[in-house]
This record gives sequence, structure tokens and C-alpha cells, in this order.
Amino acid sequence: MAEKSDFGYFERKLRKRRIEVLREITDLEPKVLENPLKSGEESTPFPTHMADIADVENRLDRDSYLMNRYTRELKDIDAALWKIVEKTYGICEDCGAQIRKARLKVIPSTRYCKSCAEKKEKYNWIEESL
Ligand SMILES: [Zn+2]
Repeated sequence: MAEKSDFGYFERKLRKRRIEVLREITDLEPKVLENPLKSGEESTPFPTHMADIADVENRLDRDSYLMNRYTRELKDIDAALWKIVEKTYGICEDCGAQIRKARLKVIPSTRYCKSCAEKKEKYNWIEESL
């Protein structure tokens, strides 16, 4: 479990990751927002072949997916930083158990202990490496 004396360590880790995630979001945002398939008809070049459209769609799917992923991680990081302030960091939001320190080291922004995370399919994207 995370001792209060470890909070500084995790806070530094979270702040570092937060900068990386923000950088990714800043990179992805224009790509996701400037959707060439949805922008006005006058915009050129407009993909006219089905293959081109599929290409653009695939790229947008991937960018949107990554964007969602990073946006969610950013929220988790902010929540975790707030929990450090409130001295509740490292406690599973679901069952209230202490999250193992080894797990927090790998995913400092996790909200759940391993068993609760496994039950939450929507978090699979971040938990899949454990
Ligand atoms: Zn739990």
C-alpha cells in the first residue's frame, strides 16, 4: 500500500505523466477537430475515392480513440493528484481497499485495486498491460 511518505514520489510521477498526456492531447486535438470528412464541401482536397475516405476514417478513428484515452487518463491523473491533497491517495474507489504499491508504481493514476479494475471493462485500455 502507499504510505503517506510515498505521496511525494507519486505526486512527482503523476505530474510528469500529466505533462506527457497534455502534450499528446495538444498534438491530437487539431487532427480530431479538423475532420476533413465533416468540413465544408468547398474544402479541398476532398477525398473522392472510397479508398481515400476509408483511409481518412481509419486515421480519424485511431486519433479519436487516442484522444479519448488521453482525456480519460488526464481526468484520472487530476483525480489522483487531488486525492494526494486529501490524503486519500491509493485507496480503491470501489471497495475502499488499499491499492498495492507495485500497482500504483505502474499506473499511478489508477482509481481501483486490481480486482475491481478487472471487473471494469471500460478501464481495460489502461489496465491491459498488468
Ligand atoms: Zn477495489
